[in-house]
Amino acid sequence: MKVVDILARAGEPPISFEIIPPRRGGSVEDVMRLVEALLPFRPAFVDVTSHAAEAVYEEQPDGSLRRRIKRKRPGTLGLCAAIRFRFGVETVPHLLCTGFTREETEDALIELNYLGIRNVMALQGDPRVERRPFPDRTENVHALDLVGQVAAMNRGRYLHDLADAAPTDFCIGVAGYPERHAEAPNTPRDIGFLKRKIDAGAHYVVTQMFFRNAHYFDFVARCRAEGIHVPILPGLKILSTKAQLTSLPRTFHVEIPEELVAEAEKADDERVVDVGVEWAVAQARELLSRGAPGIHFYILQSSREITPALERLRRAGGPGGARGAAGMRGAG
Ligand code: FAD
Repeated sequence: MKVVDILARAGEPPISFEIIPPRRGGSVEDVMRLVEALLPFRPAFVDVTSHAAEAVYEEQPDGSLRRRIKRKRPGTLGLCAAIRFRFGVETVPHLLCTGFTREETEDALIELNYLGIRNVMALQGDPRVERRPFPDRTENVHALDLVGQVAAMNRGRYLHDLADAAPTDFCIGVAGYPERHAEAPNTPRDIGFLKRKIDAGAHYVVTQMFFRNAHYFDFVARCRAEGIHVPILPGLKILSTKAQLTSLPRTFHVEIPEELVAEAEKADDERVVDVGVEWAVAQARELLSRGAPGIHFYILQSSREITPALERLRRAGGPGGARGAAGMRGAG
């Protein structure tokens, strides 16, 4: 089923999750156990992130450093297929511009098409290694280019003219930034680029994490004013350690509200996660009560934080029952 159809279904608003593949050489069963722990909460779909190669410096016996280009977390496509076939849960592989040629992307899309996976997230990708020109191959630079490539395949247009090429039928998600993408000179321009991704064929938006709902509501209002009418799915992350008070703003360029920071600082280390869960539950309840089309949780590798949060949401009447529930302290 396509994500847009899931989001359009009447009734219970969908809850979805984002996980990352194991490190190279890691066990796929760890990921399967994580997904299994989420099944009681009926995930509408599971996104699996993609990771471009990065430079790794390895010390040599003579003390010198050797630079190697290595993809630490391969396996996005295989993991999506494995989860879908084992658990019957829809999966959404992330596709990146960074680190992949357009030819490799076309091949990946053909694999996904054969596997019956109908959803993809089209992203630029985090910058990892300096881009090098490919003499005989091409590369997407912005997510807009990647959306254009997938949308072209949906019209039966592959990279090189093929007679009678079968059109694909991918539902395309793209990223949006309630607090502006760090490289965008200003919000109107950032939203303008988002609009171009939608006009190029993207079907829905998933937002970067945010800890203050006002950012999301303001972003949605601005998007609607610019003529973006696709679903905008809010992405939430549960704060779980004190170290994240600095690492999340540094990595994702998001603000953590003072009230949340103060509560987390006051808590014992092992209780920070309780503060994070309470905050995220309050955010989710308010978002759903004010019409968000669902909630997308960034959980990455562990179900430790998400399980209590989902249980509390369920006690509040389940994700469906959370519609209409009053927002809690602080999140807005
Ligand atoms: P783009 O839409 O290309 O935008 C990047 C920047 O360029 C923005 O500042 C935008 O305003 C500007 N811009 C856009 N189009 C143009 C244009 N045509 N000309 C000039 N400027 C333009 N990273 C990973 O490596 N792997 C993942 O799996 C992954 N998953 C993610 C999932 C979500 C929901 C989100 C929000 C982010 C994810 N990221 C992931 C991070 C993301 O790849 C980075 O934030 C990246 O820097 C931007 O990606 P984008 O797709 O938004 O890029």
